[in-house]
Amino acid sequence: MNPRALLLIGPLSLLTVSAPSGHAWGCKGHQTVALIAEKRLTPETQEMVQKILADSPVDPKLKRWCGNATMDLMVDASTWPDDVRNERNNGPWHYIDIPLGKHQGSLNEYCGSEGCVTRAIEQQRAILKDKSADPLKRAEAIRYLIHFVGDMHQPLHAANNADNGGNCVPVAYFHHNPLPNPVHPDRDEYSPNLHQVWDTEIVERDMEISNPRRYADELDEKFRKKSADWEAADIQVERWAWESHERAEAEVYGAFPEKIGIEPDLKLKSCAENNRMGKRMFEKHLAIGEAYQNRAGEIVEISLAQAGARLAMILNDAAKTNP
Ligand SMILES: [Zn+2]
Repeated sequence: MNPRALLLIGPLSLLTVSAPSGHAWGCKGHQTVALIAEKRLTPETQEMVQKILADSPVDPKLKRWCGNATMDLMVDASTWPDDVRNERNNGPWHYIDIPLGKHQGSLNEYCGSEGCVTRAIEQQRAILKDKSADPLKRAEAIRYLIHFVGDMHQPLHAANNADNGGNCVPVAYFHHNPLPNPVHPDRDEYSPNLHQVWDTEIVERDMEISNPRRYADELDEKFRKKSADWEAADIQVERWAWESHERAEAEVYGAFPEKIGIEPDLKLKSCAENNRMGKRMFEKHLAIGEAYQNRAGEIVEISLAQAGARLAMILNDAAKTNP
């Protein structure tokens, strides 16, 4: 089982241990990425994607965490991988643990035997491009790609500081103080924590009263010029992961006035490991307020816009091989 799945800490509004674990961008972040990408698909790609998804629908009995009220197949697809993550036991496909303090090199050594997000993207791209592959597998490949390109642009899905990608870093978020897991106080898990607020809270506060469709329109407009440069560059999944990693170091950890040191390169099964990592971080009393939120909001916006533009590049590229 992957260590992050052990952290049964749900969204801030549900301080309960029965909610699913933090899975990268919450519902609205993933939906926004899908909607930005959708604006950038060629008509041929749009046709290919709609047909493949419509021909192999999601199991209607599957419990959908983000609801199933949408008519938009790409929006619906964007959150599906989190809904099947436990039954398929592929949690590690959602992230890559690049240790804080590393700045270059091959990502192979950080991609374990169970896989990682960069490898999963390459594998799913290959399935989608293979016209003779099982149609259901190609539909799942589209669903995985929509989700994983989003995930890898959440900076804490490309970074680890012996803290399960920030899951073991308690933070106060405005008036919410971090509280220990009430069922297992010995695990040194707290909510809110850094991973969780970057997945969901920072995005939703930045969105204000908007919704994913309107937010996607706003981001598409705001980054129109920059996205031409992103599209002019090649599809370079490893480079994108490094870029996300650098954001984690500078903007997620580095934006706190308190220094968070570089920890040994460890993957934890619980936040009580690494000399009680969760408790040690709790004692720093990290707090996110207006200043951190404003800076993080800018980072979230560019990350979602890039994820959308790059997802469209991947899908448009796949459609070229599937006329
Ligand atoms: Zn995910």
